[in-house]
Amino acid sequence: MADKFDVIVIGAGPGGYVAAIRAAQLGLKTACVEKWVNKEGKTVHGGTCLNVGCIPSKALLESSHKFIEARDHFAEVGIEVGDVKADVAKMLEFKNSVIAKNVGGISMLFKANGVTALEGTGKVMAGKKVEVTDHDGNKQSYEAENIVIASGSVPVEIPPTPMTEGLIVSSTGALEFEEVPKRLGVIGAGVIGLELGSVWSRLGSDVTVLEAMDSFLPIVDEAIAKETQKILSKQGMKIKLGARVTGSDIKDSEVVVKYIDQDGEQEQTFDKLIVCVGRRPYTQNLLDESAGVGLDERGFIKVDDVCLTSAPGIYAIGDVVRGPMLAHKASEEGVMVADIIAGHKAEMNYDAIPSVIYTSPEVAWVGKSEQQLKAEGVEYNVGVFPFSANGRALANNAAEGMAKVIADAETDRILGVHILSQHAGELIAQGVIAMEFGSSAEDLALTCFAHPTTSEAIHEAALAVGGHAIHMANRKKRK
Ligand code: FAD
Ligand code: AMP
Repeated sequence: MADKFDVIVIGAGPGGYVAAIRAAQLGLKTACVEKWVNKEGKTVHGGTCLNVGCIPSKALLESSHKFIEARDHFAEVGIEVGDVKADVAKMLEFKNSVIAKNVGGISMLFKANGVTALEGTGKVMAGKKVEVTDHDGNKQSYEAENIVIASGSVPVEIPPTPMTEGLIVSSTGALEFEEVPKRLGVIGAGVIGLELGSVWSRLGSDVTVLEAMDSFLPIVDEAIAKETQKILSKQGMKIKLGARVTGSDIKDSEVVVKYIDQDGEQEQTFDKLIVCVGRRPYTQNLLDESAGVGLDERGFIKVDDVCLTSAPGIYAIGDVVRGPMLAHKASEEGVMVADIIAGHKAEMNYDAIPSVIYTSPEVAWVGKSEQQLKAEGVEYNVGVFPFSANGRALANNAAEGMAKVIADAETDRILGVHILSQHAGELIAQGVIAMEFGSSAEDLALTCFAHPTTSEAIHEAALAVGGHAIHMANRKKRK
């Protein structure tokens, strides 16, 4: 008879591994199937996020940021370091050690929580059965009361720029360049393109970002997107908007990219090209038709508000379902479905999921932007505070950017928080908490923030909603 589990999770990325750990914590007999094999042939947990996504990119972003700080900015605060050199091999070694620690941590957590780790490719069959094909091709069938699919996503490839070993690469290849490309092309000015473009630009590449759309970061609050574009351009990144890539050729180990912009057909030659045009849900060899799990027209697994698919007892979470492709969104969905399976009531607040772009400065936001609210016809008040007026930001020699709080004009409830600053990704948690607790801008304005901290900029932005920021020439007089 097939082994039987209360829950079988397919995929051990931040969606799947969190769902599995939570389910096991709740006393459910849980297994998690993972097919990812590293270069040493070992099955590794953590998915895209830990192996080729969030974590390795942040290791390289941090190393390259430190390099720029040391080379260009230490002297400004009185530290002479002489000739500063970037050792790319060492940076990659550090990045790989960070991956290994994180990945090892998940395996350890599986053991500690009693999650059975199954190695191989899981396929959902009729009758809530999961067929696992191991790396040698052997098949084994398991039964489950509930199945959680967390198979994630893979990079989108486009016909004009077919992947070409070492020359035209996806985000994964861009985490592995052994030396700094002299001329680097990036297709797509999305989050991943800007982060990876930043890494190599800081290390010395002449980076050109080709973006088909005419607007820069349309998902970001317009004023913040504009300022971000200005800052990144000043740092040396060439951002070409309205530039749609239509073809490429490899000539003498160089990549000639063809694109169309407002002036017609253009060509540019690069030493390497990164294709960052988005990610698509991954469902290859995952679903037997008899399982009854449906997809939507874009290939995502169709789910309801609590991530239940069209088949009873089968849930799907993370990048393979609708919503932002973010690790923390995947994890929260994992917690929610595990709770539901264990018989608890659970739901997600999709309106309070933060987003971060880890450029320097970072861009972070939660809730609605001004342009979204305008389009929806919502009346709002807005408070903006520049970091150039924040004492700690000045002391940190990192006073670029602004904090913005947007609140409903009638109720004062916070509708959005937007930050452009050093460590904005950390600061945004305050906005998320405020929104989760249904806070008004006044609630935030009446909260005591430690001094001197960059968080005070959020406090001041909340005060500014009512026209009462302290460290800024106020536009309104207190009533
Ligand atoms: P994944 O992490 O993709 O995991 C899916 C897992 O399922 C994989 O391990 C895969 O091998 C396995 N799998 C698939 N099919 C099967 C099968 N049939 N059987 C067994 N196993 C299977 N997000 C952020 O929130 N912050 C960031 O800073 C960030 N940075 C990123 C940087 C880069 C360069 C990239 C590429 C992504 C980044 N992301 C970031 C996005 C983030 O990585 C994803 O949103 C997240 O990993 C999604 O989690 P998931 O569990 O849904 O899927
Ligand atoms: P994201 O979906 O945030 O990862 O961003 C991907 C970006 O790639 C989007 O802004 C797209 O407009 C852009 N993009 C997609 N195809 C092309 C193309 N052929 N040429 C230039 N940019 C593209």
